Amino acid sequence: MEYPMWIGGRPVVTGPPRKVQLPYDGAEVAAVHEAGPEQVDAAVEAAAAAAAAMRELTLAERAFLLRKAHDKVLERSEALALALSSESGKPIREARAEVDRAALTLLFSSEEAHRLCGEVVPMDASPAGKGRWAMTLREPVGVIAAITPFNFPLNLAMHKIGPAIAAGNAVVHKPASATPVTALMMAGVFEECGLPPGALNVIPGPGGAIGDLLVSHPKVAMITFTGSPAVGLRIRSLAGMKRVTLELGSNSAVIVEDDADLDAAVPRAVAGSFANSGQVCISVQRIFAHQKVYGEFVERMAEGARKLKIGHPHDPATDISSLITTGEAERVEAWIGEAVRAGAGLVAGGARSRATIEPAVLAQAPPDVKISCQEAFGPVVAVNPVNGLEEAVAMVNASQYGLQASIYTRDIEKAFWAARRVHVGGFLINEVPAYRVDQMPYGGVKLSGMGREGPKYAVEEMTEVKLISWR
Ligand code: NAP
Repeated sequence: MEYPMWIGGRPVVTGPPRKVQLPYDGAEVAAVHEAGPEQVDAAVEAAAAAAAAMRELTLAERAFLLRKAHDKVLERSEALALALSSESGKPIREARAEVDRAALTLLFSSEEAHRLCGEVVPMDASPAGKGRWAMTLREPVGVIAAITPFNFPLNLAMHKIGPAIAAGNAVVHKPASATPVTALMMAGVFEECGLPPGALNVIPGPGGAIGDLLVSHPKVAMITFTGSPAVGLRIRSLAGMKRVTLELGSNSAVIVEDDADLDAAVPRAVAGSFANSGQVCISVQRIFAHQKVYGEFVERMAEGARKLKIGHPHDPATDISSLITTGEAERVEAWIGEAVRAGAGLVAGGARSRATIEPAVLAQAPPDVKISCQEAFGPVVAVNPVNGLEEAVAMVNASQYGLQASIYTRDIEKAFWAARRVHVGGFLINEVPAYRVDQMPYGGVKLSGMGREGPKYAVEEMTEVKLISWR
């Protein structure tokens, strides 16, 4: 199936379309038209024109529209899940779960439209404020450029588009080149729901070629980006006075204390390390287990990894499918090799076939190898022993990233001691850091980014506070 771009409420085609391939075996799954500089400009102009209509939509109208989009996503859930699995290579079971989450993200965004309000300012708390009243309004910023990655192409797009609409903004969405199909399907969904023409423009195209133009366009007021730190840093350097939200990568860590419930921790650590073949920004990559439970923990992790079923993403029994490209799989394979040469034990998996890597468990990876200090974004986890909680917290914090981290312990004092000392955007007790529900505040510190998503928090980022005072 061939998909046009979506600009100003109309489908747009350019030149010959580009193939979209199933990463698992290279099968062609769709063809899309891609934007060049002219279409970037047209999309921003269309959004700028629609921004006026968007800010005039009542909160009830915004909420109703988002509620309709939620309903339509559920009506079309199977078609969306199949397209999502095909473009990203994500196992169909996980693709279905992502569609359900995307619908919920729209529902939460709809609810936030109802809650959009300012506050009364107690002006006469200052002597100079006597006889004055003031209130704040939350006004839309205008045009938002939304740039999204390949790993959750639908839900992460809805985390930007839903709150943007709730806040009364217009959007230009540039999806990842590997995964433009569900984004283009959603342009049709929003159109059917009655979104004003131009309020959502979807322009696939190579980020390296059109990204700078979009980010530095003078009519773009805010950039909301999810992707790699390298691109995030470039966007920030070009953004000038524009608002920027950056949701970047991590190498998330779990602490396993000597009193942890291993029956609860091991299955969650296996799921958290290997979901979507580790291509999750909060994938479990580093585990620091107390030396008293370390041996048993490693053995049980390896056993869990070996049980996962590798296969075609459309097979409902598949747990692990391919990475997004063979090149990415080769990189992960090389990182595993580097860790093993430096002295780590490979206790499960690690073999590569085309773009697919068997889920790998490394034991005692040295702290200076890539798997210990960079983001793997693949199905590999390193488990290391520690002597106590202080050492574990220091190891978790010895990272340039800080998205989410977690601890398994039965001792609530220890859990909160660690929670206060770990430098991350979110800390989970008796859960893995790969856990997220869509209404919670979500985002990182350090190289993991700035700003928070989750519709309530994204709406705050996507609105400007205006004070109105009278005497
Ligand atoms: P990426 O290479 O940074 O790409 C992300 C998006 O940026 C794509 O749409 C890409 O377009 C675009 N892009 C590339 N160069 C650009 C430029 N110069 N200017 C503007 N846009 C540009 O990331 P990815 O490989 O798709 O995704 C993996 C990364 O995303 C990982 O680091 C992961 O941790 C992170 N991530 C973070 C979160 C979070 O919420 N914190 C969630 C998911 C993923 P093209 O595809 O055309 O290159």
